[in-house]
Amino acid sequence: MPDRTPLFAANWKMHKTVEETESFLGDFLSNPPDPVADVVICPPYLSLGPAIARCADTPVGVAAQNMHEEPEGAFTGEVSAPMLVELGVDGVILGHSERRQYFNESDEALARKVPAALLAGLEPILCVGENESQRDSDETVGVLTRQIEADLSEVPEDRLGDVVIAYEPIWAIGTGRTASPDQAQEAIALIRGMIEARSGEAAGRVRILYGGSVKPDNAAELISQPDVDGALVGGASLDAEEFASIVRFREHVAR
Ligand code: PEP
Repeated sequence: MPDRTPLFAANWKMHKTVEETESFLGDFLSNPPDPVADVVICPPYLSLGPAIARCADTPVGVAAQNMHEEPEGAFTGEVSAPMLVELGVDGVILGHSERRQYFNESDEALARKVPAALLAGLEPILCVGENESQRDSDETVGVLTRQIEADLSEVPEDRLGDVVIAYEPIWAIGTGRTASPDQAQEAIALIRGMIEARSGEAAGRVRILYGGSVKPDNAAELISQPDVDGALVGGASLDAEEFASIVRFREHVAR
């Protein structure tokens, strides 16, 4: 992993009340995370404010799990990038496969959301990945190419390196079936190559995470791959000790 600081993002999905968020952070922050890794917690909207207050003056950042592409308007139930920034949010997950699958999140919307997040000052974490039948029928390269080309189409070259990309094979999310380190490396190198085709500078800078059943016992091997810059963690991030153990992956690297 050249000069890129590893990033660990905890995607809590629709888990944890405000009280549970505060309890998690009390435990997690009692043992400060690896100072050479960036760590971001992504709780549900209602816990963003309390999490920001609890993480103030700590190295832990806070990100949202979604946002609307418009800054304001008649979009009942939605939240915009400037609203997140006003609250003190650092970043936002965009295009998670659950949002694509259950909420019809489209590549067209993502092509607007990613630059809107950047413009507002949020670090977007764009999720891409193939499902099981697409992998089985050798469509992985095509799926990743389509998603990366479409979702980043409106991001100017000089901002491409500011986007975080998470390669999340859908068949590995919440299933306990982790991609092998070789599979993760191959897909992430392919994505880096797509960025390289637009900007060599961005390709060297862009952080590309792996996500899908990352646990304390498989994190080190995955993140030690040359192109893997950290992890987006779902289930295992709900437990402060498990997530802290993943963040301290260097302690588990085989010597
Ligand atoms: C996710 O939802 O982004 C994810 C990677 O989940 P899990 O770690 O539970 O597979």
